[in-house]
Amino acid sequence: MSTKVLGIDLGTTNSVVAIIEDGQPRIIPVGGERLLPSVVGLDSNGSLLVGRHAYNQWGIAPERTVRSIKRLMGSGKRAEMAGTSYTPQEISAFILRRIREAAAAYLGEDVQRAVITVPAYFNEPQRQATIEAGEIAGLQVERILNEPTAAALAYGYGRDNGSEPLRVLVYDLGGGTFDVSIIELDGEIVDVIATAGNNHLGGDDFDQRLADLLADEFERDHKIDLRQNHQAWARLWRAAEEAKIELSSLPYATINLEYIVADKKGRPLHIQREIERQEFEGLISDLLDGTLDAIDQALTDAKLGADDLDRVLLVGGSTRIPAVWSLVTEHLDQEPHAEIDPDAAVALGAAVQAGIVAGEKIDAILVDVTPFSLGLETATISRGRLKDDHFVPLIRRNSAVPVQKSEMFNTIFPGQHAIHVKVYQGENSIASENVLLGDFMFDELKPNRGDGLTEVTVNFQLDINGILNVTVIDRAGRKQISEQMKASRQRLSPEDIAQSQAKLALTYAGAEDEDEDEVVVDPGVHALLERAAKILAAPGVDAELAADISEVVIAIREAVQDGDDEAVEERCDELIDLLFEAEE
Ligand code: AMP
Repeated sequence: MSTKVLGIDLGTTNSVVAIIEDGQPRIIPVGGERLLPSVVGLDSNGSLLVGRHAYNQWGIAPERTVRSIKRLMGSGKRAEMAGTSYTPQEISAFILRRIREAAAAYLGEDVQRAVITVPAYFNEPQRQATIEAGEIAGLQVERILNEPTAAALAYGYGRDNGSEPLRVLVYDLGGGTFDVSIIELDGEIVDVIATAGNNHLGGDDFDQRLADLLADEFERDHKIDLRQNHQAWARLWRAAEEAKIELSSLPYATINLEYIVADKKGRPLHIQREIERQEFEGLISDLLDGTLDAIDQALTDAKLGADDLDRVLLVGGSTRIPAVWSLVTEHLDQEPHAEIDPDAAVALGAAVQAGIVAGEKIDAILVDVTPFSLGLETATISRGRLKDDHFVPLIRRNSAVPVQKSEMFNTIFPGQHAIHVKVYQGENSIASENVLLGDFMFDELKPNRGDGLTEVTVNFQLDINGILNVTVIDRAGRKQISEQMKASRQRLSPEDIAQSQAKLALTYAGAEDEDEDEVVVDPGVHALLERAAKILAAPGVDAELAADISEVVIAIREAVQDGDDEAVEERCDELIDLLFEAEE
């Protein structure tokens, strides 16, 4: 019998299995994928389907398919599949057996021992049912491990006996469930101090909100409710999930569904809809706000304040939504950790525990991260004044690489036909205080908005070697420019990252306030800049002249910021000439 022990995250939406190899926990692919959908079904011939095939069948044959069985574990309820009733343990055992087979194929030997994770709030019958599911699948369950503890183990906490006790909040937002747990780790002793959450909240609800929006719009336009048509609704739902996932790294996504249904005369009807990230975030904002209430509930139950927390971990696939990161950061006033793939963190931690059970040597998990934020310089016009040198990060520091992020920006002045793209690395909100990685011009822009401004998408793609590809595309798709530059890269353990973060927080605490100090502009110069802004905002300004004016305006701001009075005067003279020309 193999001495190896599997670490299994038996999830509501997806299950993941990992094992220790060469001292490192590694995911074992099942059917070629890292995540196995926790779905079981019987096809029309009565053959068993587990995972992706069962998931695909759910839309067309829900009566032969079972999803989210984890919610029924230990409840005494049963699930129906093709007219036969099964216990939740039996359905879960189908999933575990599939995992065991995949592990045997991967390792070349049958593994019969496992550590399986469960939510911290699972009661005894629920834990017992999980053990029974393992047994039915032919697995000896060595340990039932709490999911937040597994996440902490993946991050390397609770493995060093000599270290200080740590209080960790684990925010786990998956496909169908949301949990917050506060745990205390003291060497190998782990206490769950509080748990809160919602057993029926997750990515599925976000998909549904988007699918409902599209179905409502379709019903308004065509008087057909797509929710009544199983196949159309399943396609719409899937497209909504894909768009949601795209919106985690892109500013907008397009949903394109050819021939979703036919109208009364048999003519095909389609859906084509663009959705911006902001609109999607608006659709789910009440659900995300609710997760913050659960954090407060857990803190209250634990009799702790946010500043008593040493670490905050984000796990679960839905924590990739950028708004989740921002909300949690703001609410707890500390940056959460998400360096380890949030879908895999629990399984990797389960493998660490499994490795401990098997007596294996385990090294800290190393992750490739970008040690600094990467972003752009931007400018805005506020009360007629140009405010530039502002740093907008696209890729946050400590993001695991490779990573890709896009954001949409627009020009400032109507008729502006060029943008100076300046790419910086650092954490200061004043762009020029960071390290300039490179710059280039994007010109020949043509306005693509009614107000004469141009929208562009900026895409940052950072590879494992620290090569940053910056691509600017005008939204109308007429022009695209790419430049390559070199960013810093580091290979660290998450614990090293946590310690560096604490250091950085101190170093930058003073620097960030500088943003508030507005540069004082001479009233004469200010009046001139306002005059320029008015001219640029007026319709019908010659595009080339407008570009020259905006360039000089930016130069004046820079000179003011540098305190270079001579340059300010020189540039103001230039601006006066240009304004005369424009006013003629
Ligand atoms: P889990 O249960 O942790 O495997 O999480 C699954 C959920 O995460 C599903 O609802 C997915 O649609 C969602 N998900 C996965 N990747 C992303 C992403 N990049 N952005 C938003 N949601 C995601």
